[in-house]
Amino acid sequence: VVYLDYQATTPVDQRVLDAMLPFLTQQYANPSSPHQPGRRAASALRAARRQVKTSLGAEHDTEIVFTSGATEANHLAILGTATASPRPDADHIITTPIEHQSVLATCDHLSRAGYSVTTVPVDHHGRVNPADVAVAITPHTVLVSVMYANNEIGTIQPIADIAAITRRHNVLLHTDAAQAIGALDIDVNRLGVDLLTISAHKIYGPKGIGALYIRRGTPLRPQYAGSQEHGFRAGTINLPGTIALAEALRILATEREHETPRIAQLRDSLADRLLAALPHAHINGSPEHRLPGNLSLTIPGIDAADLIDALPDLAISNGSACASGHAKPSHVLAAIGLPDSDARATIRLSLGRETRESDIEHAAHRIGSSVATTPPPG
Ligand code: PLP
Repeated sequence: VVYLDYQATTPVDQRVLDAMLPFLTQQYANPSSPHQPGRRAASALRAARRQVKTSLGAEHDTEIVFTSGATEANHLAILGTATASPRPDADHIITTPIEHQSVLATCDHLSRAGYSVTTVPVDHHGRVNPADVAVAITPHTVLVSVMYANNEIGTIQPIADIAAITRRHNVLLHTDAAQAIGALDIDVNRLGVDLLTISAHKIYGPKGIGALYIRRGTPLRPQYAGSQEHGFRAGTINLPGTIALAEALRILATEREHETPRIAQLRDSLADRLLAALPHAHINGSPEHRLPGNLSLTIPGIDAADLIDALPDLAISNGSACASGHAKPSHVLAAIGLPDSDARATIRLSLGRETRESDIEHAAHRIGSSVATTPPPG
């Protein structure tokens, strides 16, 4: 099977596995334990946290809180800041219509609890206009949450420009960088964000571990009480996971620079081949501000779910993995103005570390010939 679904998840890099394995089988002590093995585990945890801090350009180890992934990090960022403000009238949150479900569902939860939520629009490329964020801010606004890069159409947002605005208004800014971290060199201070979400399984680490960067001094209420993670998150830490996340980030720092252009070039070659075979197809997302490994393609007249079924030798996606299986067309494609019929005719191909030219050739050939031989609907 040719795997072209790296935005849903990635394989665990062998080097990451090698780094984490001893912490499953030999150095398994709880970092909170008082004995020697516990202290060694605590020291390994400190080193992992320091690596994550350095990779994100953060200043203090205590600004990194490990979580079970990006979903939990997004929940903690949004619920934690919304409920922590000392001002009772601070009850307004700003977000976008193309966020991951974990952000949208959390905002929805807050809106049912009496908060007001403003959704700033995106243009037909899926880009937020920072001026729209400025207009939406009121004296009640606590938090702006805008994802760094989108999981379906790959669009990258002008986060630093949005940060300049939120800072001016003394409003917190959170960004979900789960998709961005694999392709972009992220520095929380250059970006100017207060909170930033990452997840290991999008960057060749295991599922079930992620982190939230929380700028020192940001008011944030833990969602359940406990002493771990500087009081921000309770429960025994997933030590092997933290080691893996740290190693995945360390590898990215050395390989991202040459991987990004390689993957972008393969993606462009895949797009050229598919558009040559299917001249009526079109690409979604921003032509210039897009993740290198993302290709969201609408092939009018097809049913993306049927196409995926017809191609058992390809692992590709329709919309995002989280949304697929649901009959509803993708909220991201709807937000950029695609009619339902086009949203249902959209596939997402995402490339990664193991993708080679031969994979691209195979995928383009199979998709091109499968669509050409599919009778039109009806
Ligand atoms: N945010 C974005 C942008 C994602 O693409 C994903 C992946 O599904 C998530 C959040 C959720 O990440 P996790 O699976 O680590 O909870």
